Amino acid sequence: MSSVEASSRSPASDPLARVAEELLLPLGVDGVHGRRAVYVEIYERLDAFITHQRDPACELLRFPPVMSRQQLERSGYLKSFPNLLGCVAALHGSEASIRAAADVHEQGGEWTRALSASDLVLSPAACYPLYPLAARRGPVQQNGLLFDVAAECFRHEPARTASRQQSFRMRELVCIDTAARALAFRDAWIPRARTLAEQLGLPCAIEPATDPFFGRVGQVMAVSQRQQALKFELLIRLQSDGAPTACMSFNYHLDHFGAVWEIGHQGGGLAHTACVAFGMDRLVLALFCVHGLDPRHWPQTVRKALSIG
Ligand code: AMP
Ligand code: ZN
Repeated sequence: MSSVEASSRSPASDPLARVAEELLLPLGVDGVHGRRAVYVEIYERLDAFITHQRDPACELLRFPPVMSRQQLERSGYLKSFPNLLGCVAALHGSEASIRAAADVHEQGGEWTRALSASDLVLSPAACYPLYPLAARRGPVQQNGLLFDVAAECFRHEPARTASRQQSFRMRELVCIDTAARALAFRDAWIPRARTLAEQLGLPCAIEPATDPFFGRVGQVMAVSQRQQALKFELLIRLQSDGAPTACMSFNYHLDHFGAVWEIGHQGGGLAHTACVAFGMDRLVLALFCVHGLDPRHWPQTVRKALSIG
């Protein structure tokens, strides 16, 4: 890195680096942070703000940071994003074999060689655990299903920049309904999100997007996703240089989850699904990057939206 680049990215001139330095705490691994009080407070206010924005008919569910490995495998995640997945590994076996494995560490050896996969993975998105739950309720009724879900998510993408985290919070609004209504839900959220960003004083663009599908086959999947206009993202500039950052996504999955989990619709055929994802940590970072480190000095309209007294 040249000295010019180095200085342009120093905390003093790069708002994101400055926010990270002041509000996040390094926990020894790239992309994993502790959060200070003012960050937590804004997170909670943003969460409440989103609750006011969403359809009150949404059923609220909260999920843990782990989910069933078998369910994620069945969802097709390994075909699309095997590189991002984290699997929970543990020491299995008798007391003696577990003791022996742990003692390897005491002797300066590599105890992790004795680990084997458990039946849990780290949730890579908040909506995956929802579809098998919805399937257990039987065919979707005429007026469809709307959910508000959230989870702490993991993606194996260590990076130095604070906006690309390995462990981050995602909240999602999910519609399970006919093709027409799932698509209409997704499309209606695009202008709603624009208004929401305006209320928060966050300049943004909403653009067609693709998921980061793995490998060469993934490139073909991405082309098809773009051709069918299945994904859009709300982008906010967090750094003066570099590309803007996706802080929300708007996704239409066709009948993928309906087929995987055999979710029928009373109107006939399989249910279709759509989700609107709020990258909560990125939105909080965006608020601090755009408005500064002290919420008491944020614009009055933004303070009002977030009920900052
Ligand atoms: P996606 O399922 O990839 O559309 O992700 C939904 C939202 O989660 C994105 O729009 C981001 O705001 C957020 N997100 C995804 N990956 C990360 C990450 N590595 N660190 C922080 N936020 C993320
Ligand atoms: Zn989703």
